[in-house]
Amino acid sequence: MEAVYIGLGSNLAEPVQQLDAALAALAQLPSTRLIATSAYYSSAPLGPSDQPRFTNAVAHLETNLTPHALLDQLQAIELSQGRQRNSERWGPRTLDLDILLFGKCIINDERLRVPHYHMHARPFVLVPLAELCPADFSLADGRLLADLLRQCPVDPTLQRLHTPQLCTT
Ligand code: ATP
Ligand code: MG
Ligand code: MG
Repeated sequence: MEAVYIGLGSNLAEPVQQLDAALAALAQLPSTRLIATSAYYSSAPLGPSDQPRFTNAVAHLETNLTPHALLDQLQAIELSQGRQRNSERWGPRTLDLDILLFGKCIINDERLRVPHYHMHARPFVLVPLAELCPADFSLADGRLLADLLRQCPVDPTLQRLHTPQLCTT
């Protein structure tokens, strides 16, 4: 089993409910266990600022799926929750599920970049991830999570919300 961390985000159609539903779907994935979830956070949107604030979280999974099979499953969950892909980068969405880390794998192909290429610059990823990891946690490429957190731009509006119930049944 590989330890995998997934970044969840939503800013349309009741974001808290979108994340609740996404966690329930992650818990049902084949050959996969949902181990833990961070608190939910409210964050300022990346990119276009004329869109609602995001709700974000990070989930810790263990899986026997391959990275690409997991990406297929995540994209199916996004679609089942009404995700529409359009040309606007970082635009509003009902659900975004990104693979942040997949064990110690480093992947760079046309479908998948792991560790996630931009996680180092995203407080709404690093802060919830740090809730789930030991203090000396390092990424596959050797970077220390604590260093990334120190160097990350600050979102002064980042707000910790509630911790969701784990839905592992
Ligand atoms: P960002 O990747 O900057 O957070 P985004 O999540 O909005 O942007 P999407 O539209 O969800 O981008 O995904 C675009 C493509 O990114 C997907 O089709 C997928 O193949 C690719 N991708 C590359 N690396 C990853 C990853 N680690 N997790 C999820 N998708 C990835
Ligand atoms: Mg994303
Ligand atoms: Mg994505």
